[in-house]
Amino acid sequence: MPKSSQDASAGPSPHTTGASSATEPGAPGAAENEPTSRPSAPRESAACETTHPAFAELDQELNRLQRAIRLAIQDQLAKLTGQSMGSLKENRDLADAIHRLLDSHGLRVRCVECGHPAILRVSPRGGTAKGAFVFDHSIDGRRTFHGGRGTVPEIRLVAKPPRKKRASGTTSVA
Ligand SMILES: [Zn+2]
Repeated sequence: MPKSSQDASAGPSPHTTGASSATEPGAPGAAENEPTSRPSAPRESAACETTHPAFAELDQELNRLQRAIRLAIQDQLAKLTGQSMGSLKENRDLADAIHRLLDSHGLRVRCVECGHPAILRVSPRGGTAKGAFVFDHSIDGRRTFHGGRGTVPEIRLVAKPPRKKRASGTTSVA
């Protein structure tokens, strides 16, 4: 029996389209002292119309779908909050499973302490036999861990940040 899950997804769509003006400032004229230059070839710059209206529509639709997916995953993961598995290994497997699921959808968890996108991990810490759930993220280029409770923290999902180009040199040297 099919369950008709009716979800009201009629939220306000945030406008995040940055309108880029495509005005070209006049290029600095080339020196014209050579009489052997070509007789002014009329270069007709083809108007770049890569942004067909269909793309804007598709973009909106995808955003809507991605948000629905994010919320659906978040809903399910919320059931894990406050829980702990029986062992360090099981907790690690759980955190790993969560990460793989999120990663496949371009998502990260939001650190409860600083709000940065993070990866949930379980680290063996002194005093906690089953490990501690930590938020693994890099802040100002440094790998940082926040959290550290023995149970799954509240999970809020955010989009995975775009991969940064490595600023030459400053890689984390533990
Ligand atoms: Zn943090």
